Amino acid sequence: MTEMTPERWNATHEYTREVFGGEDQILAELIPAAEAEGFPSIAVGPDVGRLLMILTSMTPGRRVLELGTLGGYSAIWLARGMAPDGHLITIEYNDHHADFAESQFAKAGLADRIEVRRGAALDVLPVVVEELGQQSVDVAFIDAVKSEYPEYFRLVRPLIAPGGLVIADNVFGSGSAWIDQSDHHLIAGPDELNRLLASDPDFEAVAVPFRSGVLIGRRVA
Ligand code: SAH
Ligand code: MG
Repeated sequence: MTEMTPERWNATHEYTREVFGGEDQILAELIPAAEAEGFPSIAVGPDVGRLLMILTSMTPGRRVLELGTLGGYSAIWLARGMAPDGHLITIEYNDHHADFAESQFAKAGLADRIEVRRGAALDVLPVVVEELGQQSVDVAFIDAVKSEYPEYFRLVRPLIAPGGLVIADNVFGSGSAWIDQSDHHLIAGPDELNRLLASDPDFEAVAVPFRSGVLIGRRVA
């Protein structure tokens, strides 16, 4: 078996970006504009973005929920996978991020289909859960505070429609923290979520080693 060295990992990542990382002008301009505003470089890349779009388009794609908007990059990918009557709610704590994302949604012609809810996910989620109702959400994308991942799932779980997806970013770790290196706070939450979904009898789940790991769980019961 060929060993997965850091060089091979990076080369695979670069290859994936080269072949599957195409993006239009709106998405290509968003990241440099966000970085010029001082936003951290932690948005998903075009490869994971495309995965989000494809997965969403494999569901009815009518109701999508995102936790952690940042500059709106992943939200635009998700929205592009939605049905024509689809609606995305994205929750963001930082007003500067929310303002910027709203301007990007307008630029992308998605202002009427993406709604930013401001506040901490754990405060806003119970309101959204009440509003949307059980088993009404086709895709929930979790990408806010890593230590809160298990709690997000407990709140979001009843919302997921039959056949619907729970997707989470950074589930093998983010930044310099990785599953096999430490029990750092960036790892414990995602690790617990991975295990929660893997052992949940109502879900089938797997995490793919794409960038820093993407967890995909599908409600099967
Ligand atoms: N999904 C985005 C990246 C999100 S980064 C993308 O890939 O394009 C994480 C975001 O979560 C940041 O914008 C941060 O401000 C926000 N955030 C931090 N704490 C939060 C909280 N408690 N509730 C909701 N959002 C939070
Ligand atoms: Mg992320």
